[in-house]
Amino acid sequence: MSKKLTSRADDYSKWYNELVVKADLAENSAVRGCMVIKPYGYAIWEKMQAELDKMFKETGHQNAYFPLFVPKSLFEAEEKNAEGFAKECAIVTHYRLQNDPDKPGKLRVDPEAKLEEELIVRPTSEAIIWNTYKGWIQSYRDLPLLINQWANVVRWEMRTRLFLRTAEFLWQEGHTAHATKEEALKEAQLMNNVYATFAENFMAIPVVKGVKTESERFAGADETYCIEALMQDGKALQAGTSHFLGQNFAKAFDVKFTSKEGKQDYVWATSWGVSTRLMGALIMTHSDDEGLVLPPSLAPNQVVIVPIYKTEEQFEEISKIANLIKKDLNVKGVSVKYDNRDTHRPGAKFAQHELQGVPLRIAIGPKDLENGTVEIARRDLKTKQTVALDILTSTVENLLEEIQNNLYKKALDFRDSHITEVDNFEDFKSTIENKGGFVSAHWDGTAETEEKIKELTKATIRCIPEDSKEENGVCVYTGKPSNRRVLFAKAY
Ligand code: AMP
Repeated sequence: MSKKLTSRADDYSKWYNELVVKADLAENSAVRGCMVIKPYGYAIWEKMQAELDKMFKETGHQNAYFPLFVPKSLFEAEEKNAEGFAKECAIVTHYRLQNDPDKPGKLRVDPEAKLEEELIVRPTSEAIIWNTYKGWIQSYRDLPLLINQWANVVRWEMRTRLFLRTAEFLWQEGHTAHATKEEALKEAQLMNNVYATFAENFMAIPVVKGVKTESERFAGADETYCIEALMQDGKALQAGTSHFLGQNFAKAFDVKFTSKEGKQDYVWATSWGVSTRLMGALIMTHSDDEGLVLPPSLAPNQVVIVPIYKTEEQFEEISKIANLIKKDLNVKGVSVKYDNRDTHRPGAKFAQHELQGVPLRIAIGPKDLENGTVEIARRDLKTKQTVALDILTSTVENLLEEIQNNLYKKALDFRDSHITEVDNFEDFKSTIENKGGFVSAHWDGTAETEEKIKELTKATIRCIPEDSKEENGVCVYTGKPSNRRVLFAKAY
């Protein structure tokens, strides 16, 4: 297999697929649309999980776990939610196999073992969770209930892509219950802000915060907040969503509470989630034609040390220094891998760590032994410098911070230069077609216009940005009045 990747300019989509496989992040499996996440990819996901989990706990949430299956009658209870997910459901109808009398060595479903009630493999867990909350919530003293679950879900997607859209994916889903509408709204916004902070501070991905239009809203929600990111090919990616569910699920599952004043009312709800899609966002935002580029905050190894030697004696000398460097950096909280494999040549190691996006590479050779130096190479800028051992730790710390900031700034510059204001449909079409990115335009607020624009250009309304100002204008398609711009883009 050739090491070289297809370039982004030649075929962005092919570049992405090759990169995911060659950098050892994930691969397709025997199950259509379902992926195997490999150890290196999973290590990045675990770092994301750890940071997010910390942020959820800091904002008062606790983890719990609910069943993978949802009885069909519960699934149907909130009608809009059920209808929205119906087309993507996997359903369990039987619980046993038996030998097939007509085909030796084969199994078949045991017709006697039909489930009385079919089970839906959860595409999202509101139904099973709100059915459970009914038993947990009686009075205002039981509120707010702030729960998160780390889980897998299944949505039978027709067009799948590693990480970005898979039939089974890993995610977290928060499900909270509140006494008032205001509190639930605040929670939904808070968690969207948590996602934005995570994306910007850890993933180094700038995001637009906003709300979805009614047609893009989560099925069963009264409002969907979201963060939208822009990939290097000019396509947008929904990176996270946080839903204000009103009293819809409380009504569907009859979850009422007694208020301080002794009155009965339905509980207010939110749900919010980010998935392994974030891995796709991370890859597509920063990586280049040589492979993965990782922000130090999420890199499984922030530094790799590669020894360059001819003799066993040199190797031992270098190993001593490498282990000291590793120890010093570990004390500062920097993760380091000493790549002392004798099965690979330095060149092969360099290529692998470049492909896998290790932010800093330290090479130590015989010359360095003489001079008390090492060579440091930055993955993001591909620059190299020689550094004296006595200032190495602080240099590495500074460089890691610089790389984190540089990646964010680069992504921000790209994003900002790809938000184009347009005021007529010709410009709209040509911007979407030729330049890509977000198009900021007036829209008349109707689902029909939104649909028509999607049909004509494949661009959808990504969100109504939180910071969009009131401004009198006319809809870019119908010419009807509009009082704020929304962001359109082609999206993953
Ligand atoms: P939702 O429950 O639809 O609001 O989605 C929650 C999160 O999961 C959002 O960040 C979505 O972008 C993401 N997501 C939705 N469908 C998929 C999928 N098929 N594969 C990976 N992530 C997904």
